[in-house]
Amino acid sequence: MSTESKACPGCGAHFSKSDTSFHRYGVASSGCWQAFNELLAHERETWSYPEVHRLVIDAYSVQHPQNIELQNSLGISQRFVDASVQSVWIHLIGLYFALEEKRPLSEISKLMDQALKGGEGFEPLPPPKNRGKLTHREAPLTKDLEVYSRFAWKWAEDAWLAWSEHHDKIRQRVA
Ligand SMILES: [Zn+2]
Repeated sequence: MSTESKACPGCGAHFSKSDTSFHRYGVASSGCWQAFNELLAHERETWSYPEVHRLVIDAYSVQHPQNIELQNSLGISQRFVDASVQSVWIHLIGLYFALEEKRPLSEISKLMDQALKGGEGFEPLPPPKNRGKLTHREAPLTKDLEVYSRFAWKWAEDAWLAWSEHHDKIRQRVA
C-alpha cells in the first residue's frame, strides 16, 4: 500500500493515500474523503455533532464540486454526477443563509429544503480554480468547542468567498 501524497481533485489538499474508501460522487481523493470522515467521527464522539457541523458539511461540499470529465473517466453514474452538481447549489445556499443572512445554524437545513423546492434549474456552476485557503486538513482535532467553532466559521467564510462569482445566482435562487 502506498502512502504517497496525492492532491485531492476537489480541495487540492494532500492526504496520504487510502485504498479503503472512496467518494461515491468521484469528487474527492480517497485520502481526502477518509480524513473528512475521521473529522466527522471526531465531531460525533466529542460533541454528538456541534452546531457548526452545518458549516463543516457545507464548506466541504462546495470545495468538492462536480468535475464532470474526471467523474466520467471514473465511470461515476449520471445520477451521482447530477447529485454533485446540485450539491454545490444546496451547500452554497446553506453558506448564504449562515454568512449573509446570519440565520441561526439550527434553522438552516429547513431553509435549504425550502429554497430547493421544485428542484429544477440547477445548471452546473463552473467551479472556481481557487477553492479557498482553508480545508478540513487544517481543522483542529480539539475538544475545545470554541476553538473548533471558530475554525469552522473561518473555513466556511473562505469557501463561500471562493465562489464569489456565483453569489448573485445563489441570492436570486433564494429570493
Ligand atoms: Zn478534498
